[in-house]
Amino acid sequence: MTNRLRTANVHFNSLGTPVADSFDDVYFSNDSGIDETRHVFIDGNDITQRWQAWQQPHFVIAETGFGTGLNCLITMALFKQFRAANPSHPLKRLFIVTTEKYPINASDLQQALAVFPAVGPQVNKLIELYPAPLPGCHRLAFSEWHTTIDLWLGDIHDLLPQWHCPHNGLVDAWFLDGFAPSKNPDMWSDTLFTQMARLSKPGATFATFTAAGIVKRGLKAAGFSITKRKGFGRKRDMLTGELETPPARRTNAPWHYRYPTETATNNEHIAIVGAGLAGSSLALALCTRGIKVSLFGHGPGPADGASGNRQGGLYPQLQASLSNPAQIQAHGFLYAKRYYDALSAAGLAFEHDNCGVLLLGFNDEVKRRQQKLINNDIWPEELVTAVSAEQASELSGIGLSDGGLFIRQGGWICPAQLVAAQLQAARDTGLLTEHYNARVTLAGLDDTAQVTRGDTVYLTAGEQRWQANRVVLASGHECAGIDALAHLPLRPVRGQVEALPAQAPINQLKTVLCHKGYLTPDWQGRHALGSTYVKGDTDTTPREAESTENLAIHAKALAHYDWSSTLTHDNHARAAIRLGTADHQPIVGGVIAPQIITERYEDLYKGKHVNSYPEVSDAQRLLVLTGLGSRGLTTAPLMAEVLASQLSHEPLPMSETLLQALAPERFQLRNLRRPVQ
Ligand code: SAM
Repeated sequence: MTNRLRTANVHFNSLGTPVADSFDDVYFSNDSGIDETRHVFIDGNDITQRWQAWQQPHFVIAETGFGTGLNCLITMALFKQFRAANPSHPLKRLFIVTTEKYPINASDLQQALAVFPAVGPQVNKLIELYPAPLPGCHRLAFSEWHTTIDLWLGDIHDLLPQWHCPHNGLVDAWFLDGFAPSKNPDMWSDTLFTQMARLSKPGATFATFTAAGIVKRGLKAAGFSITKRKGFGRKRDMLTGELETPPARRTNAPWHYRYPTETATNNEHIAIVGAGLAGSSLALALCTRGIKVSLFGHGPGPADGASGNRQGGLYPQLQASLSNPAQIQAHGFLYAKRYYDALSAAGLAFEHDNCGVLLLGFNDEVKRRQQKLINNDIWPEELVTAVSAEQASELSGIGLSDGGLFIRQGGWICPAQLVAAQLQAARDTGLLTEHYNARVTLAGLDDTAQVTRGDTVYLTAGEQRWQANRVVLASGHECAGIDALAHLPLRPVRGQVEALPAQAPINQLKTVLCHKGYLTPDWQGRHALGSTYVKGDTDTTPREAESTENLAIHAKALAHYDWSSTLTHDNHARAAIRLGTADHQPIVGGVIAPQIITERYEDLYKGKHVNSYPEVSDAQRLLVLTGLGSRGLTTAPLMAEVLASQLSHEPLPMSETLLQALAPERFQLRNLRRPVQ
């Protein structure tokens, strides 16, 4: 029995159409999959006419049942044509948010789609981006088609309640696919229809291939109008309709409401304080959305803090369960991999090596934990595999008597060069202004962290003064000294990393090697070996005593390897301060003044119905992206994408549960939920 997501069992019928064994139903029509998609879903939702008339920057389609992705690929192709024919149209971006309970494996997917040469380039891109079967949201960027696909893996009934929804709804059109109601009755239930209504914007449409009574009645009861149209091929009827009665409330947890009342538009100007990985990732995410950014760094250039190290390991910190922290790591890592690959493919150079990361089972306790992680069978092989001592030796290039876990897609990156590449890409949009040697303080905020003077936040440094519509604090440990964040449990930690001269036998190392510390393969004659961990110390002078400590940590953990005690350093080290948090998770989102939270939610412990509480949508002007600790390479791209999506009122690439685990107000809300003694 596996705890993993089950993948689909597929066979191909005599016409070459894929059939799902467990449902005994086809993925698309035997007659013509492409024509079916156009007739049922695209024309059924009047998609092309609506795009022409659309005045918003993005359009959101939600689909039930991703299957082979054919619907998505055809719609993307149409959107690319639309953009090419209407370059100055306000509609710029298509989002397709789709669910899949039984993902098809990549080779079946390739075979299923091979018969549609018309969508060949999209198929190749889909195969390249196709995610590992891990439950949750996988955001896939199809830049050439101006389309983002959020592929949510899992059961639709678990997933839709996890979609965070703006006040006015999220979805413009529904592609109601899924096997026939007679073959898949579980999917076509009232939970689905109620969630569709919760997530639909007023006037959102749906189209479905079926005209089954259960679907008709369910959608009507949820507030949709119903129209019968001629079905595709041999099907007599199909259904379309529109949301007529929007629900009164769309949020599950009003105290965690993420979207600001006003969308960040192209006229906006956002200031980012901090020019490390968090700041540069966010700058790029905002600039690519057409938003103007001013970036402030206190040093003479970018990445002069914790993001300035020579080599950083890229891998997820997994656990033996799908805990929130482990999911944040796993999804952060998978997203970061796709993101870094796309940056490289776009010609932005930063030194890196996809050499894999070996997590060595270096003592009995670690071996036991690793065994448990593998036995629990929750993580796909694309993410982590167990390796024997022999395999570990082969992979690492040095003789090892321990096995461990191997993160095949991991490796190392030069973070400072990555920051430079991201900033270059942001600069290329013409929307980024950079200010260095600028140690800014904020003004214009009242004591509830909201803007008092008009809609402007002021940033000052000495005589200089700048203004912006919103400000995001992304300055790592410097956030710990900012008044507006004084209520957050921020924990600066000093870490010193050695740049060891290449020496035998570690000069043979082919992968990143992690145990109690970590060791990277040689790059330009040096290995990174780290790191110390000194809580509350914000001094960045390298210390010989910490170099000795770093080597001692390695020698102790690897005591059964002769060479571990022979490693030498030559006083090349760098110390930087990371910012941790009380629960070791990043902090991402709008900052709500603590007194507002207390006023509105102080009786949260009573367990009253959520509808009796007002929503927090005040968090508009002051936001935060920090607390990445020593894991910024793994988490920064996804965290930045979440924040940029939030500001732009786009679908969010993360479940409500994980968003709550990252929200700035989570610490205070945890305390309010505890019953008063
Ligand atoms: N739209 C697809 C395409 O373009 O290839 C075809 C969809 S196929 C007819 C139906 C899909 O719905 C299958 O891939 C199936 O695994 C998925 N599905 C069925 N029940 C589901 C559920 N409860 N939650 C999420 N997906 C489900």
